Amino acid sequence: MPQPLRKPPEKLATIIRLINLVSPETNLLEFDEAFPVTTNSDAILKELHPEHWLSTKMEKVGFAQPFRDYVLERGFEKAIARYESFRVSRHSLRRLIKRGGYPILSTRAIEVDREGLIELGPDELSAALIGVEAKRICECAVCRRIFWAGRVTQKTCSAKCRNTLSVRKWRKGKTKIQ
Ligand SMILES: [Zn+2]
Repeated sequence: MPQPLRKPPEKLATIIRLINLVSPETNLLEFDEAFPVTTNSDAILKELHPEHWLSTKMEKVGFAQPFRDYVLERGFEKAIARYESFRVSRHSLRRLIKRGGYPILSTRAIEVDREGLIELGPDELSAALIGVEAKRICECAVCRRIFWAGRVTQKTCSAKCRNTLSVRKWRKGKTKIQ
């Protein structure tokens, strides 16, 4: 009997979709390291047109449009927090998959209110993970993207990767026989 197909919780599905906007091979540096101000004219551009500056920097590093749009969705002021929250979520999920448990890094942003007092933003990753079956958060055996395993036996993220994997297994089996 086939195993029942379980849908991912909505919040987690959104986070996984987001994480897959960046290739699994990309090493994400901290914001200031990833997008340094290199020259005087660079500093001026950042001052005058911060969003354009950041978008150009991100493009140069090789980030695709959907990810750049996500980071800049709420303007430059929120961009650093969004980028860092993305980086932490991705890191934490990968560790969770590899080690089955990990002291999770918070994706809460520290904000300072009008009176100069510290506030904490929401921790979207923790909120999306509580009560979720850990074994269903997986890394694809072929492309290494993170995916939700609707069936717990699922090893790949898509039909395309499933085919690739079965071809690989078939070839491996064939070489053994020869
Ligand atoms: Zn895949």
